[in-house]
Amino acid sequence: MNHEHLSKRLQTVAQFVPQNARLADIGSDHAYLPCHLALQGRISYALAGEVVKGPFELAQKHVAQLNLGHLITARMADGLMAVEKEDAIDTVTICGMGGDLIASILEKGKQNGKLDGVTTLITQPNVDEQHVRLWLMENHYRITDEIILEENGKIYEIIVAVFTTEKMVYTQDELTFGVFLPAQKSDVFVQKWTREIEKYDKIILSLQKANSDTRDKIDAFKAEQQRIKEIIK
Ligand code: SAM
Repeated sequence: MNHEHLSKRLQTVAQFVPQNARLADIGSDHAYLPCHLALQGRISYALAGEVVKGPFELAQKHVAQLNLGHLITARMADGLMAVEKEDAIDTVTICGMGGDLIASILEKGKQNGKLDGVTTLITQPNVDEQHVRLWLMENHYRITDEIILEENGKIYEIIVAVFTTEKMVYTQDELTFGVFLPAQKSDVFVQKWTREIEKYDKIILSLQKANSDTRDKIDAFKAEQQRIKEIIK
């Protein structure tokens, strides 16, 4: 992968970045996404935020190599703390991390006023997508698009949301499985949740072999499997 040949996952994320966005890409290893968007004339400014020195330096180097310093700033900071008022960010991408971490980055950012003026959030949690959807629901972001895709044997979800003054309410199933994905029921979606059922099968098997009383746990996993089966049937 590089700025010219993004992964299918980041290419899909890129498609959702609004034209002329002022973007903050948080966790911007190599700054691939901002560089790609800048070279395509898609953004008017980007901040590449990184918390780890190595990837931050790679992002800086990459921006300099491509002579994109007038459009992209790389900054080393924790999450959205990289954002400064003068950046006037309106779009945030946070990709390739767990849903838990993405939600905590968003929460800390909100509490520090870093999301003021941000209208579009594009997230790509690797796992635990429900944490991201819950945060979005509780913070007035309406989920407008969801994509599920497979690349190199891994399954990824992309969740796009826009700020709204309305109160958002999603059901527990929508938080877990998605707002749009269950109705689309793509092959990748069914594959993802079939894998989850199989994972629970293994857990149940090992619980059955345990000496202690694990009946309650087993019942809970079986109930979860049943809930998934209802969604993908
Ligand atoms: N966003 C890129 C992508 O999707 O291909 C890189 C994903 S990489 C797996 C995750 C990156 O997020 C790493 O470079 C890591 O250092 C960075 N990261 C993790 N926690 C972070 C945080 N709190 N603030 C900023 N960057 C973070």
